[in-house]
Amino acid sequence: MSVNGVPIPPERARAAAEVGATLAPGRRVVLTTHVNADGDGVGSEVGLWHLLRARGVKPVIANPTPVPERFHFLLPDGADTSGGAVKELERAEVIVVVDISDLGRLGDLAHAVRTRGVPVVCIDHHVSKGSLPPGPRLLAPEATATAELVFDLASALDWPLSPDAARALYVGILTDTGGFRFSNTSARALRIAGSLLERGVDPESIYERVYASAPEGRVRLLAEVLETLVVEPEVGLAWVTVPPDALDRHGATADDLDGIVEFPRSIAGVRLALLFRQIANGRVKVSLRSMGGVDVADLAHPFGGGGHQKAAGASFEGTMADVQERVLTVAREYLRAHPD
Ligand code: 5GP
Ligand code: MN
Repeated sequence: MSVNGVPIPPERARAAAEVGATLAPGRRVVLTTHVNADGDGVGSEVGLWHLLRARGVKPVIANPTPVPERFHFLLPDGADTSGGAVKELERAEVIVVVDISDLGRLGDLAHAVRTRGVPVVCIDHHVSKGSLPPGPRLLAPEATATAELVFDLASALDWPLSPDAARALYVGILTDTGGFRFSNTSARALRIAGSLLERGVDPESIYERVYASAPEGRVRLLAEVLETLVVEPEVGLAWVTVPPDALDRHGATADDLDGIVEFPRSIAGVRLALLFRQIANGRVKVSLRSMGGVDVADLAHPFGGGGHQKAAGASFEGTMADVQERVLTVAREYLRAHPD
């Protein structure tokens, strides 16, 4: 049994020891995550920030894109230096990348991370070959969330979890399981969530901050996106498209789209759900979600995307019409070739 009441697989304990050895007191450590950080990315970095501060390490958070408003309540004063991220990376003695293993997902920070020449720790649960510079790795694609691995790191090294650290890790597990609903909701994740509650996490107040404090624009955006729903019941495919300029019109950000793809996925008989949206540089981003045996990480990989078996993403060059044509053709072929 570990100190936090959840046993740790031996390979994770070994990896945690290597990661811990790099994070020595006094070191300047930059914590970063993928573009458009989600609850697991932010929760994992904030959890680590608290753990490291308590040990006399000097951590800062420096992300390629701003932390979504929804998660600001987690950020300690002064911890988020994303506005000057490249400068922070230039001064870093250690870089810790959480919730992603690919340089390509670090957006404008990829160059600085690749060329800095300091150890790059990675803590992640994505299915990926990884393309970060060398450093200790705490990787487990079978983990529910990166926050689970940060919890394991703390347990393995006997680093005490403060209520603030526990709250951040709980947000990571809560959001990556879609509120303890998705197939990655393991018994272990629920045990960890229980252990976090014992450290003072209040689930109702977190629910309110994360899921019930929406600006009006988020709900109006949802209504507009759902209007675009197309369903092809014969193959089990459904998709929605974010109308051009919809985010601007509703004063919304990419984070406000989080979860919308669950609606097409929730239709009976749908095995693959997609959300298309225009992003910067004439590119189109596709979010993929599946039910049953459909493997969306497999579908996304040939396009340079990735993720997990039931939740993945990829981005494409081209107009919305072109990208939809390409992706929908591949999706239909895949579904026909993989009947449930
Ligand atoms: P979402 O659709 O919510 O943006 O992402 C779903 C999952 O796919 C997440 O695990 C996310 O990290 C991953 N993902 C999303 N977009 C990309 C992408 O462009 N490349 C890769 N490798 N993974 C992505
Ligand atoms: Mn995650």
